[in-house]
Amino acid sequence: MQQLIDAFERKFYYLRLSITDVCNFRCTYCLPNGYQPHGSPRSFLSLDEIRRVTRAFAQLGTEKVRLTGGEPSLRRDFTEIIAAVRENTAIRTLAVTTNGYRLARDVANWQAAGLTDINVSVDSLDARQFHAITGQDKFRQVMAGIDAAFSVGYRKVKVNTVLMREANLHQLPQFLDWIKSRPIQLRFIELMQTGQGEALFHQQHVSGALLRQQLLQQGWQQGTRSRSDGPAQVFSHPDYQGEIGLIMPYEKDFCASCNRLRVSAVGDLHLCLFGEQGLTLRDLLADDSQLEQLKMRIYSSLQAKKQTHFLHQGNSGITQNLSFIGG
Ligand code: SAM
Ligand code: SF4
Repeated sequence: MQQLIDAFERKFYYLRLSITDVCNFRCTYCLPNGYQPHGSPRSFLSLDEIRRVTRAFAQLGTEKVRLTGGEPSLRRDFTEIIAAVRENTAIRTLAVTTNGYRLARDVANWQAAGLTDINVSVDSLDARQFHAITGQDKFRQVMAGIDAAFSVGYRKVKVNTVLMREANLHQLPQFLDWIKSRPIQLRFIELMQTGQGEALFHQQHVSGALLRQQLLQQGWQQGTRSRSDGPAQVFSHPDYQGEIGLIMPYEKDFCASCNRLRVSAVGDLHLCLFGEQGLTLRDLLADDSQLEQLKMRIYSSLQAKKQTHFLHQGNSGITQNLSFIGG
């Protein structure tokens, strides 16, 4: 089998696949004015196109796929999509990143269809503040969703929290208390600058290094990464069932450990979250007979992947907000 490898000898085991741009939340750092349909109506990848694109990646060595968006669970065929991706036996990990809105209702079906991992976004443990950040009064529903995931048998749930100076930096003690007796990996993501989020970035961005210092002082210890892991630095503590992850895209050498590629909801391959224009794969997703051509295009496009992003220069590529290619 051919393995995806770039000009800097990085190997790619991990695909992040966006299946819709649409979202029902209005997170301040992502879609503060809610989802705005684009000028011309766009159709998102169909179930068959998703089946074909993940088959090509699986045959190129992909072991892990994450379904994201927008809000992936808003797709009516979400359960069928899970089953279609899992037809590829090489894909051992199939994860979703979700705002948690549909978890309580649907998580049992998702698990039965083959979903192995769940990430839920929760930026505050205070219901009122959660409402203020997301524009939706759904804190209890999302918490019930996390409980439901545990009751159907998930042994660990990951929670994504975007670190913001005023909104949640001071809430570390509450977050730690929450994971003391729950097997939750709580991942603090540094706020990233996007085309639309410049003002918020300057007001709220704070480095994860500040948290790392506090964690190390309190006896937390950093673990090691495996090859299809995401970018988080993970910390554990003997007194806690949960773990803490830190995702720090501004840290030196963040890009050296890059092991993932992205495909947008309209079938464009993005070599970097903060890269330039995507490259379309869609003309090669119409029929099963195009599989070899599709694999070839993915492989050869990868050779143009740059060594690092240009976020430090304030250049966020074409990324207007992360709902577009899925964070
Ligand atoms: N709607 C789903 C959700 O919120 O989990 C999936 C898509 S969302 C774009 C994926 C992740 O990106 C979420 O955890 C979200 O918090 C994060 N995200 C969005 N905008 C961000 C930004 N500007 N900086 C850092 N993380 C961001
Ligand atoms: Fe929607 Fe997720 Fe963006 Fe929030 S972060 S607006 S839930 S896509």
